Amino acid sequence: MTKITSIDIRGIPYTISYVSAEELEDPLYKGPELTIHGDCNSLERHIRILKTLDSDKMFATLLHEVIHGIWATDGRSEEWSEKREESLTVAMECGIVSTMPKLIEAYKGK
Ligand SMILES: [Zn+2]
Repeated sequence: MTKITSIDIRGIPYTISYVSAEELEDPLYKGPELTIHGDCNSLERHIRILKTLDSDKMFATLLHEVIHGIWATDGRSEEWSEKREESLTVAMECGIVSTMPKLIEAYKGK
């Protein structure tokens, strides 16, 4: 995976950095994952990705955090509980990752 360092999410510029597990640790985090692979701070417009992930997992994590950013731009994050947002984000991540090769094939042939 190419480690991009910025991305526009619906026209809003976000920076992306690749950080250690220690930098990602959040003592207040009580989610289902034992290890955090990334996070998205929509106020600071910054996405952080665990730098030790393999290429496939790093891409899936970047996509996951971008989806969180998308929810934030249209205010859905404020309507949903954290658990609901995470569940919908994981569903979107898995669905897009599983269809991405064919979608890219279709996009390239447009
Ligand atoms: Zn998430």
